[in-house]
Amino acid sequence: MENNLFYKKSNVYETLGEDFTKEANVYGEGYKTFLDASKTERDCVRTSIELAKAHGYVEYDFGMEIKAGDKLYYNNRGRSLYLIKVGTENINNGMRIIASHIDTPRIDFKQMPIYEDGGFCFAKTRYYGGIRKYQWLALPLALHGTIIRKDGEVVNISIGDDESDPVFYITDLLPHIAQDYNSKPLGQAISAENLNVLLGSMPCADKDADNKIKTNVLTMLNEKYGIVEEDFLSADIFAVPAGRARDVGFDRSLISAYGHDDKVCAYPSLTALFESEASEKTIMVVLADKEEIGSEGNTGMKCEVFTDLMGAVTDALGGSIYAVKAHSKCLSADVTACFDPNYGEAFDRRNATYINCGVAMSKYTGHGGKSSTNDAPAEYIGWIRKLFAENGVIWQAGDMGRNDLGGGGTVAKFIAQHNIETVDLGVPVISMHAPYEVISKVDILCAHKAFAAFCK
Ligand code: MN
Ligand code: MN
Repeated sequence: MENNLFYKKSNVYETLGEDFTKEANVYGEGYKTFLDASKTERDCVRTSIELAKAHGYVEYDFGMEIKAGDKLYYNNRGRSLYLIKVGTENINNGMRIIASHIDTPRIDFKQMPIYEDGGFCFAKTRYYGGIRKYQWLALPLALHGTIIRKDGEVVNISIGDDESDPVFYITDLLPHIAQDYNSKPLGQAISAENLNVLLGSMPCADKDADNKIKTNVLTMLNEKYGIVEEDFLSADIFAVPAGRARDVGFDRSLISAYGHDDKVCAYPSLTALFESEASEKTIMVVLADKEEIGSEGNTGMKCEVFTDLMGAVTDALGGSIYAVKAHSKCLSADVTACFDPNYGEAFDRRNATYINCGVAMSKYTGHGGKSSTNDAPAEYIGWIRKLFAENGVIWQAGDMGRNDLGGGGTVAKFIAQHNIETVDLGVPVISMHAPYEVISKVDILCAHKAFAAFCK
């Protein structure tokens, strides 16, 4: 009786055979390679364009012709990417859209970052996205970014991820004299103005110079990149955790890396798109920027380039944009909090997502009384349940955490506002927004299977 009446989550290992585990291990290797080359949104756009080109996608710009069968990518300022497989089906039936984001919390340089103090050269920073500040101290960091020099030259920086590179560092106080700090609440113990990135300590040879260490660092930057201090005014420099994605556990069932949120959804949305060759549907994969700061700006999900692209495809195929929006379906592909037994009290155990139980659907995100969320309707979730059941996709339902503890948002509500059916579906993550987050290899493969079924 219970078997028929009760909803029980399926553990992927117990439900699917050894072949699935093997497939997950192979898939995980591809994912790790993708991640290591995609630390920032700019890196991820470059990596994704390479993959898209290898699968026959060509660059699109507004004004170009579009026809059924085209495989296009639109590079929005090097920071967000839109891939479109134009289908042969009537466009008024709508598109299938999978939207994830490729920006991740990190430590950004301020506009006038470089200074010298106490025998060191540091960079002043502003953190990007929701971080627990203590997690970013005393870690090896890499610097990734882009500087536009006064002469207009573009200088790309990536230093700290190669084994032969130096790394960078935010200092922490030794425990021996940390009594005052240790008695403060965790959220107040670390000041954001103390998250200064250590850049060097060697003085320049000029004995008369003020700021000998700063001078030495700027001299080295000038020799390597041809930049001067003023060039930091037109620069995006991000400090991110140094190092590669690694397997976790004796059984290697998990992956630890920087930036699972949300590349763990971006990657399977790409692989599902590339697998959808036989599909007659028009499919759009969105890799958005700026989700971690509210989807703002002209590379965030709020930017109208999204509907402009839908409109360009619709016009080219002789459809109606109103019909296309009304009949499109979207998966807002973003991660959710995985149940962590070490902080069990932060979750509603009956409505949490669990490791190795498949890709997770969140009807709502937001905070408080469903504030700031796209609360997906029963009808759309019902449609997806049926689709996944027909395609053998293992998935689970669950939301972020216990009521009134906080919350989070995704791009879902910014897509739904265009009259598009949308629900959140993504991979459960342990230690979300930490410098190194953890996900399960079988869960990411379940995400791929779910997205592939959606694109069929
Ligand atoms: Mn996210
Ligand atoms: Mn996030």
